[in-house]
Amino acid sequence: MTVTLLKTISETRACIAAARERGLSIGLVPTMGALHEGHGALIRKAREETGLVVVTIFVNPIQFDRPEDLEKYPRDLDADIAFCQRLGADAVFAPDAAEMYSAQLLTSVAVAGISTRLEGEFRPGHFRGVATVVAKLFNIVPADRAYFGEKDAQQLAVIQKMVADLNFPVSIVPVATVREPDGLAMSSRNRRLTPEQRGIAPLLYRALCEAERLLQTGSRSAAEVRENAIKILTQNPAIRIEYLEVIDPATFQLVDTVSRGVVIAAAVWLGQVRLIDNVRV
Ligand code: AMP
Repeated sequence: MTVTLLKTISETRACIAAARERGLSIGLVPTMGALHEGHGALIRKAREETGLVVVTIFVNPIQFDRPEDLEKYPRDLDADIAFCQRLGADAVFAPDAAEMYSAQLLTSVAVAGISTRLEGEFRPGHFRGVATVVAKLFNIVPADRAYFGEKDAQQLAVIQKMVADLNFPVSIVPVATVREPDGLAMSSRNRRLTPEQRGIAPLLYRALCEAERLLQTGSRSAAEVRENAIKILTQNPAIRIEYLEVIDPATFQLVDTVSRGVVIAAAVWLGQVRLIDNVRV
């Protein structure tokens, strides 16, 4: 079977309706393309669990807070289609921006609270853009299950809350972060690292692992955990830390004293490339 390329909303709706007629369940994997094995894990899980797997590839302009990030975002549709084909996806929905935003957008989805700190603080408007496009995708591809990576832990929490609050009839399936052998979380943005920056990038995960180790050996002070993790990152002057915080996974607010499960989340810059990662402890 070859993967079906869908460019318009109407042909996508027809494809889903035909699958429903055949009694197939629908799995949706929203992405921005430049696919790698992190996306691969989502597609594989969808393939195991659902009858028709639809991967969406759309570099969503309204979630970018910096024009140059949007402009430089890697795009390679032919390679992405081949990747989806290899992993056994049934369809790729790859609309252009005019198809998704044909009229001026006057409606948007904002998830309060969870969206305010971390990514929400450093990327104004980002989560509104994400929640809005995901809500649109859920209406275009009415899926039974939709797959999201824990690599973007705050995004996952935002989507889970949106689905609960607005009663979207879809189950959100979290998928564990896929890493390179040296620990660096796979990301489309890794392609933009110079070889030298690529050599430095694994320090991010190393710092998060140090934070995890401290918590697991009994530290309960978020300040102490932060300080030690930040010490690892500051070993290398090429790294600019945007945030590294100990977070309550339910609210995405900062924690002072750790008494139950937390997420340690960080964002750093290496040159012009921004990397994020997190661990759950
Ligand atoms: P993106 O194309 O970066 O918007 O990501 C699309 C989906 O893939 C999101 O749900 C991400 O969380 C997920 N994803 C990206 N990188 C990884 C990774 N290394 N491991 C697991 N999931 C990932």
